[in-house]
Amino acid sequence: MSKLKALISVSSLILCVAFVAFSQGRGAPFPPKPDNPQSLKHTDAARKIAGTDQFLAKPYDFYCVAGHARAQNNNAPDLEPLKIFDNVYAIGNSETTVYVLPTSEGIVLIDAGFENKVETVTVPQLQKLGFDPKNVKYILLGHGHADHFGGSKYFQDHYGTRIGTTAADWDLMYPPNPPANQEEKKGTPPQQPRKDLVLSEGQPFKLGDLTITPVTIPGHTPSSLAFIFPVKNGSKTRLAGIFGGAILTSNIITTEGLKQYVQSIAHYLDIAKKMKVEVELQNHPIFDGMPERIEKLKALRPGEPNPFIVGTDRYLKMWNVISECVQAEIARRESS
Ligand SMILES: [Zn+2]
Repeated sequence: MSKLKALISVSSLILCVAFVAFSQGRGAPFPPKPDNPQSLKHTDAARKIAGTDQFLAKPYDFYCVAGHARAQNNNAPDLEPLKIFDNVYAIGNSETTVYVLPTSEGIVLIDAGFENKVETVTVPQLQKLGFDPKNVKYILLGHGHADHFGGSKYFQDHYGTRIGTTAADWDLMYPPNPPANQEEKKGTPPQQPRKDLVLSEGQPFKLGDLTITPVTIPGHTPSSLAFIFPVKNGSKTRLAGIFGGAILTSNIITTEGLKQYVQSIAHYLDIAKKMKVEVELQNHPIFDGMPERIEKLKALRPGEPNPFIVGTDRYLKMWNVISECVQAEIARRESS
C-alpha cells in the first residue's frame, strides 16, 4: 500500500469512527469555541454577502449562527415524490434526498438513500412517479457515507445498476483495516455495493442525452463529488449544481479537513461560475430552504419562475456565505 493510500485509509477510518461516535451522542470531537476578532470578520463577511436575500439567509442562519447547524434527521418524513424540472425528480426523505434524472437511455440516480428504506420507500417512490426501477442504469454517489450509498447494493443486485463514485470514496466504503475494537465489530456495517465505476473530475459522465460534470470536493470525505448537469424547463435548459459533500456539523471535522473544504468550495465555485450554474439542489437540503421552495413550486402559476432557479450570482453567493462561516469556525479554533 502506498503511503498516500495508507494515509487516506487511516483518515477515512478516523472520520468513520468520529462520525459513529458523534451519531451515537458520545460528544463531538471538536466542541464549539468562542468568537474572536478574526472569526467575527468572517461572519460579518457572510452577513454582508447574504444581505437581505431570503434565500441566502438560510445558509447564513444554519452555518453562521452558533448552535444552529445540525446533522440531518434520518427519520425525517419521506418526500411526496416530486417533479422539480422536466428531467429532475426528488425522492427519499426531506433531509436526505435522492434525485432521479431520466435520460433517453435510462435513469440516473444521484445517491441511493438508506439501505433499510430501499424496498419500502425508494423503489415505491420511483414507481409512484411512473418509473420502472429496472431502468435505473446508474447511481452516482455524492460521497461514500451510508446515508448516500445505503440503497445502492439493492439496485446493483436486483437491477444490475452500475454504481459510481471517486476512487478515494470507494476506499472509504471499504476500509481495508479490520474493525479497531470490539465495539466497532458489534455494529452491523451497511452493505456496500460491489466496487464498480470510478468517477473523476475531468471525465464527464454520459448516459443518452445527459452529461454530468463531476467536480472533486474533498473535506467531508476524502473525495466527495459535486455534480453539474443540465435541467430542462419547457424549452429552456439551465445548469444545476448538487454539492454532494456538504459538511453539516463542522464539530466532527478536523481543522485540516475544514481548510480542505474551504479550498474545495473555492474550486467548485470557479467551475460553477464558468459553467453558469443557475439551479440549486442539495442532497441534504436542510440549509437551502427546500421545504418552502417545494411549497412554492406546487403553487406555481404559469409564467412564474421555478423557485429552484436561483441564478448564478446567488448560487455563488450561497456557497461563499457557507465558506465564510466555515472560515469563522477555523479562526475560532486557531486562536485558542
Ligand atoms: Zn456524509
